[in-house]
Amino acid sequence: MEERKFEQLLLSVQKPGRYSGGEDGSIIKDKENKIRFAMCFPDTYEIGMSHLGVKILYSLLNSREDVWCERVYAPWIDFEEVMIKNNIPLFALESRDELKKFDIIGFSILYEMCFTNILNILKLSNIPLLSKERTSLSPLVVAGGPCTCNSEPMADFIDLFMIGEGEEVINELIDLYKESKKSNLSKEEFLIKAAKIEGIYVPSLYEAEYNENGTVKRYIPKNGAPKTVKKRIIKNMDESYYPKKFVVPYTEIVHDRAVEEIFRGCIRGCRFCQAGFIYRPVREKSIDTVLEQSKALCESTGYEEMSLLSLSTSDYSNIECMLEKLLEYTDKNQISLSLPSLRIDNFSKELVEKVSTVRKTGLTFAPEAGTQRLRNVINKNINEEEIFKACKTAFGQGYLNVKLYFMLGLPFETDEDIIGIAKLGEEILNLYYKNENRPKGKSPSITISVSCFIPKPFTPFQFHPQNTEAELIRKQELLVKSVKSKKINVKWHDSSTSFLEAIFAKGDRRLGKVILNAFNHGAKMDSWGECFNKEIWLNAFKEENINPDFYAYREIDYNEVLPWDVIDIGVKKEFLISENEKAKQALTTKNCKEKCSDCGALCYKSGICLNKRTKSNT
Ligand code: SF4
Repeated sequence: MEERKFEQLLLSVQKPGRYSGGEDGSIIKDKENKIRFAMCFPDTYEIGMSHLGVKILYSLLNSREDVWCERVYAPWIDFEEVMIKNNIPLFALESRDELKKFDIIGFSILYEMCFTNILNILKLSNIPLLSKERTSLSPLVVAGGPCTCNSEPMADFIDLFMIGEGEEVINELIDLYKESKKSNLSKEEFLIKAAKIEGIYVPSLYEAEYNENGTVKRYIPKNGAPKTVKKRIIKNMDESYYPKKFVVPYTEIVHDRAVEEIFRGCIRGCRFCQAGFIYRPVREKSIDTVLEQSKALCESTGYEEMSLLSLSTSDYSNIECMLEKLLEYTDKNQISLSLPSLRIDNFSKELVEKVSTVRKTGLTFAPEAGTQRLRNVINKNINEEEIFKACKTAFGQGYLNVKLYFMLGLPFETDEDIIGIAKLGEEILNLYYKNENRPKGKSPSITISVSCFIPKPFTPFQFHPQNTEAELIRKQELLVKSVKSKKINVKWHDSSTSFLEAIFAKGDRRLGKVILNAFNHGAKMDSWGECFNKEIWLNAFKEENINPDFYAYREIDYNEVLPWDVIDIGVKKEFLISENEKAKQALTTKNCKEKCSDCGALCYKSGICLNKRTKSNT
C-alpha cells in the first residue's frame, strides 16, 4: 500500500505508533535468501513490546545472517476495523509484508486469555486456523512461552510447540526448517523430523484417548515421536545470548526501559506458583555479566531507566555487591534503577538504602495469604515479624505507598485467613503512624490487591479445584467488609476470567473446538475487561457440549493421566504430590539454597542444584 494512504489510515485510529514500525533498533534486512520469521505477540503492541522473551528471540534470530525476524502484535479493535474495511491483511512491522509471505509464524503464549488473539492474527492474515488445513510447509505456525507447558488446548491450531527456553531450541528448529525447505520436504515429513529435536512437541503426532468418565486415558505417540517431550533450558546463563540493543518505541508501552535479567528460576517453591516449578533450576548470571550487559543496553538504547528482572530479585546470591557495582555505573550516568520482585523476608535496610538513592516510589510485597497457617500451606516462607520489619524499614526510608498482593480461593483457606488479610493491612498502616520520623502532611496508602487462585499445571496445587465464582465473590465481599480504614484500598481480579483461565490452564485438546466456537462468535482480546464477553464463552461450551466445570472445579486424583503428562518439565510428579501432602498439614519445605528437596530438576545438571550437590558431596 502507498505510504500516504497508510499514514492517513493510521491517523484515524488511537495510538498509530502501534502499527507504524520504523522504531530505533528495529532490524531491516534484504529479503533474498532469508528464512522469514514473524514473531507474533498475541496482545497489543504496548504489552508485547515490554516482554523480554520476545526481545531476546527477536535479537537472537536476527543475529543469524540467514534469518530475518520481524514483529507482529495483535491490532486493537479500531485498527482491525480499518484493516478489514480497506482489505489490508495483517502485516509485520518491519517490512509491512503480510504474514502469509513468511516461512514461520511464531507465537509467544504467556497467558490463556490470549488464545483467541492467536486465531485472530491468523484470520486477519488469511491463514487457515486449523493446523490440518495448512498443508504446505510454509507458513509453519509454532509457539512457545510458559503457557505451552500444557499445550493441549491449542493443539488443533499450532503445528509445533517449543517447550522450555526458546533461545535453546530455536536455532535447531530454523536449521531443520532451512534444510527441509531446500529438500522440498512436505510439512508432515518436516514435523516428524522436528519431533526428534529435544524440546519440540508436535501435537498431531499424538493420538489422545479418553476414559468413560471424561479423563484422559493416554496419549499415543506416532511416527517415532517421543513418549514425553523434555523441556529445554539454558545451562549457563553467562554464555547464553542476550541482546545488546532493544527496539525503542515511539509510543508509550507498559515497561519502557532497559531490562537486565539477572537469573532464571526461583529457589522458593511456593505451591501455587507455576513459574517457580517450570523454570527450575535457578541459574544466575555472574556480576560481571550483569554489569557488562546492563551497560551495553543503556548505552545502545539511551534509556535513563533500568530494571533488574527475575522471579525474586533479592534472592540473587550476592545482591548487595552486585547493586553496589551497578549503582556506581547508574549513578554516574543518571540512570534510575528499579528492583521489582523483591521478597519481603530478605528485604534488608541496606538494600532499601541502596535502591532509594535512586528512587523512592511505592513498594510492593506479596505475602499472598493473610495468616501464618495459610502461608505455611502455600509454602510462602515468611512470617508476620518479617513483613512488619520490611514495612518499617520502608517507611523509615520515606516510602509512603505499600502494595500487598494476596490470593483468594487458595486450597485449605478459611474465612479467618481472609479476615487476616484485612488485619495485616491495618497493622501495616499502624506501623506507619508509629514511625516518629514520618513526613509531615503526607498520607500513606496501603493497597491490597487480590487475585483469584488458579490451579496451574506442574504445581503441587494442580490437583485442586478452583473455588466457584459465587464462592470467590463471597470471599471478596468478606474482605472488603473486613477492611475498616479508608487509607486501605482493596482491588480484585475479575473472577469470570479466572474461571476461564482455570479451564484452559488444565484443559485438553477437546477444548480446541470451544476456543474456535467462541472466536467465531466474536471472542477476542479476552484479557481486556472492555472486550471480554463471558456469554460468548458459556454458549461455546454449551454448543460444543463440553462441561467447563469438569476442568475448573474437579479434584484431580493423583493417579489420573493429565494432559500435560506428555511434557517432562524436569520436576517429578511424585515431588508435586509430596508437596501437596505437606500442604495438607501446613508443613513447609526449605528453599533450594537451604536444602535440596530432590524435586527432579537436578537432571539438567545445571545451576543451583548442581552447585549444591557438588558442595555437599565434597
Ligand atoms: S533439585 Fe533441589 S536444588 Fe534443584 S531445583 Fe530441585 S529442589 Fe531446588
